[in-house]
Formats: sequence, structure tokens, C-alpha cells
Amino acid sequence: MTSFDAIVIGGGHNGLTAATALSRSGRKVIVLEAHQEAGGALRGDTFHPGFRANGPAQIIDRLDPDVAKLMALPAQLAGGRELPTTMLSGAEAPVILEGAYGDRITGVSPEEVERFRTLRDKLIFQAGILRRFLKRTPPPLEKIGMGDLATLGAAGLALLFRGREEGRDFLRMLLMNVADVADEYLTDDRLKALIAFDATLGIQLGPRSPTSLLGLYYRLTGEANGRIGGQFVPEGGLAALGEAFVAGALKAGVTIRTEAPVGQILADRGIVSGVVLESGETLTAPIIVSAIHPKTTFLALVDAAEIGTGFRRAIGNIRSLGNVARLDLALDAPPTFTDFPEDALTGRLVIGRSMQHVETAFNPSKYGELPADPVMEVMLPSLSQPTLAPLGAATLSALIPFVPFALKEGWESGRDRLLTKALAVLERHAPGISRSVRAARVMAPPDIEAAYRMPGGHWHHGELQADQLLVNRPVHAASRFGTPLEGLFLASAGAHPGGGISGLPGLLAARHILAGDKR
Ligand SMILES: Cc1cc2nc3c(=O)[nH]c(=O)nc-3n(C[C@H](O)[C@H](O)[C@H](O)COP(=O)(O)OP(=O)(O)OC[C@H]3O[C@@H](n4cnc5c(N)ncnc54)[C@H](O)[C@@H]3O)c2cc1C
Repeated sequence: MTSFDAIVIGGGHNGLTAATALSRSGRKVIVLEAHQEAGGALRGDTFHPGFRANGPAQIIDRLDPDVAKLMALPAQLAGGRELPTTMLSGAEAPVILEGAYGDRITGVSPEEVERFRTLRDKLIFQAGILRRFLKRTPPPLEKIGMGDLATLGAAGLALLFRGREEGRDFLRMLLMNVADVADEYLTDDRLKALIAFDATLGIQLGPRSPTSLLGLYYRLTGEANGRIGGQFVPEGGLAALGEAFVAGALKAGVTIRTEAPVGQILADRGIVSGVVLESGETLTAPIIVSAIHPKTTFLALVDAAEIGTGFRRAIGNIRSLGNVARLDLALDAPPTFTDFPEDALTGRLVIGRSMQHVETAFNPSKYGELPADPVMEVMLPSLSQPTLAPLGAATLSALIPFVPFALKEGWESGRDRLLTKALAVLERHAPGISRSVRAARVMAPPDIEAAYRMPGGHWHHGELQADQLLVNRPVHAASRFGTPLEGLFLASAGAHPGGGISGLPGLLAARHILAGDKR
């Protein structure tokens, strides 16, 4: 039996971050990863001979600077060329947003640029208020400490300095839907479609669903290259970033074991003592950090007798069915998009005509059906990473939201139907692309679940909605990284503050443990 000071389950970027922080404080730490490689959703693969894809994640827009520093990430991976977003509607010329969420915008009237800036500045200011709460452990409601009061005070002061009207507006908008906010500020359908797309990507809400603006706030609590709302792809792609997380952990003295799926967390009378691998091997430690989905942690790995039925029920009730599919195309040649500036091709392309288009794409998902006319985020990774495809050929990857986990017709036929729909959309913008497709891979949410051991295939390891946030993430009794089991802590995207490649759940969980709080 091998003993450690701490065992981290899951070698995704959050597990590696938590392990590194603990190791740097002198603990003997091991990361146990089920797959042959660590890195979680940053891990790429070969989807057709000669063609490689990044993992499900394709853009970095919220990597936390403290995490980048802790992991000693090289500058070219912690930041990168700021990518433009090009909004393709088909009917009109594209709108291009450059800089951090549209510092410069082309393709709309000067008046609309001003309107977008007014809205963007307001949202960034409001997201900044929320950001203060995302960068620290949520307060214990029964025992609010000085640090929590200071955060609340600073948030209040920030509002006061902006004037009463801003304060009132913040409270008014906080739980609104993104469609109503867009209608208040904007007139251009393509810009409305963009903020609707960004607010709902990875969340089971449509633009007109109550509280859908929260998704956009979450997006704007992230930063890239030190700029709120920025986005980039690291040099060498997301897989290179995953490798850098692994290198950072190893450098800090962490032991990483791959092909080591954990099958059980050992606990006795409410105190954890180690884990048993699926191979039967036992490893012991007084601290277990679960950097995998909270549902797997409590419903599959922990003995039901060790946790109360109420807690178990609350965990079972976490909503976590993913709704984003991933499409990878192996193309004979880079596609030609109509009416399109060449340099925007290495950026992020979002296909969506209007708020109505995004809402109509969302609606069928409520009934387990595919969108008739999907919206999507498209990247052409091999243009900036030529090793992903053979010479002259190209790769295209797309994230398609509003694709239900439990498809009514079943995924046997569903994958082909989704591919046909996606190609029809791409064909409208890049005529001839279908003829150039050498191979296609559709990963529906159940495929992402299986390939990445991510229950539900959910972007955030659990819906990021008002009732599953802050003091209720993933559930109230486990919202401060500690859990009802002494020595067991949560550190994946399913924990506070949520998902995306930020490293914050891992970092904050480790800080909480190091502060000496056992629960
Ligand atoms: C389709 C899709 C697209 C996305 N696109 C983006 C994007 O463009 N940008 C962005 O910022 N975010 C994106 N995300 C979100 C992002 O990928 C996740 O929020 C992030 O990967 C969570 O990191 P993590 O370390 O918490 O968990 P994960 O990355 O899920 O890693 C968990 C690790 O634990 C391992 N594991 C699981 N069970 C066990 C076990 N029993 N024993 C041992 N190991 C185990 C898994 O193999 C995995 O390596 C996307 C997510 C999805 C689903």
C-alpha cells in the first residue's frame, strides 16, 4: 500500500492545478488519471489517419493569471494572438469584432458600434462586480468572515462610485434574459445573435429563457492576455497547453499516474483514508481531492452508507446533461468562405443570423430534438497548426450548441442527421466544402461523456445556472470545496466557480485545503 499526503483524482487541468499548489506547499501528492494521458478536455486525438483534433475545448478565454503563474506556463501558452470573432449571417457581409470583445468592430454602422460599446462596457463593469466573488471561496452563510465582508464592501463601493443609476441597473439586469437586454441596446441582428450565442454556449438555456444573461456575465468574468473578454489559441494548440499543465505539475514534484482509474474512495465513519483503483490497488492519504464530476464522486466512488440520503439526493438532482456537440472535419483543402477577409480565417467564426435564429435553434432541444438550422462556432485549427493535417489538407472543428444528450430518435441515426444539417449550414458560407470532406467525426454529448469521462458531456460538469452557482455549487453542503466527508474536497469544473479552462476550481480548492479547513 502506498501512502501520500494528498491524492488527486483526475488529471484534467483543474486536478493538475490543485496538485501543484499542494505539492508546492511541501505535500507529497499523486494525481490519478484514468486515460493514457493527463490533460482532460485539453487532450487532442487523431480522428482520421493523418488528421488530429484538439480536445472538446477550442478557445482560451478565462485562463486565470494566478493559475498560469503557479503552473509556470510559458508565455506563448498562457497568452497568444488575440483572436477576432467573425459573425457570419449569410444574408449580409460579416461583422468582425477585434480586440477584447469588440474593441474594434467592422461591418456595422458607426452608430451601432457605439451602441455595442455602451452595452459591452456596462456588461464588463457588471461582470467585474461578480468576478470578485468568483475568485474566492463562497462565504459560509452561517459564518460570514471579514474577508467576505471586504469583498461585499468592495463590490458595493464599486457600484456606488459609478452612481446610483448604475447600481440600480445592475440589480435590474442581473437576472434578465440576454434577448431583452440585446433588444434594449442593439439594432443589428448579427450582434444580437453573437451575444445570444455567447450567453448560452454550454448552458441549457435559450436567449429568451429567464436569467440567460448570466452566461454572458460568466464569459466576461474571464480574461485573456490580461484583457477582459479576450480570447486566444495557445501556440501549438490546446494540447500544448495540456502538456504544459502536466510539465508544471511534474516540475513542482507531483507524481502523475495515468491509466489509473479510481474505482472507490475509502471512507469510514465520515472520514476518508484513500482510494482503490479499478485494478484493485489501494493508495492511502488523509486528503482526497476529487477533480472529476461531483456526481461520479458521490454516486459512483463513495459508499452510499457514508453520506446522508439528503445529500445523496441533492447530488443526484444536479442538472448536468450537456448540449454541445463537437464536429471535426478532415478536408482535402482549406475551405473558402464567401465575402471573407483572409486573416479572419485563423480566428473564431460564429454562424448565426439573429437572436431569433439562436432561439429557434434552442427550442427543439427542450423536446430531445436536433436544431433544424444549427448555429455554431467554427475554427480552422490546421491553418495555424499545420501539423494537424497532411500538406495541403485542412481541419475544421465546430461546436454545435443545443444538441440534446438524450436525443429522441437515438444517436444511431442522430449523428448522421446532425452531420447533414451542419454541412448544409457550412455549405451556405463556404460553398463546395462538402465535396472536400475526406472524413467527419461527430461527437454528441454521450460520446464526449464516454471519451472524456465527463458525465453528461457537460461543459461545466453541471449546469451553470442561478440555482447551481456560488453557495449552491454543486450543492450547498459541498459548495466550499469541502464535503460532508472529512478529508474529501471537490476541485473540478463542477465546483465553484464553474467550467472553462480557468484552473480556478483547482486553485481555490487547494488554497482552501491549505488554509487548514478540513471540511
Ligand atoms: C464540447 C465542449 C467544448 C468546450 N469548449 C471549451 C472552450 O472552447 N473553451 C473553454 O474554456 N472551455 C471549453 N469547454 C469546457 C472545458 O473543457 C471544461 O470546463 C474543463 O475541461 C474542465 O476541466 P476539469 O479539469 O475540471 O475536468 P476535465 O477536463 O473533464 O478533466 C477531468 C479528468 O478526470 C479524468 N477522470 C474522470 N474520472 C476518473 C476516475 N474515476 N479516475 C481517474 N481519472 C478520472 C478524466 O479522464 C479527465 O482527464 C468545453 C467543454 C465541452 C464539453
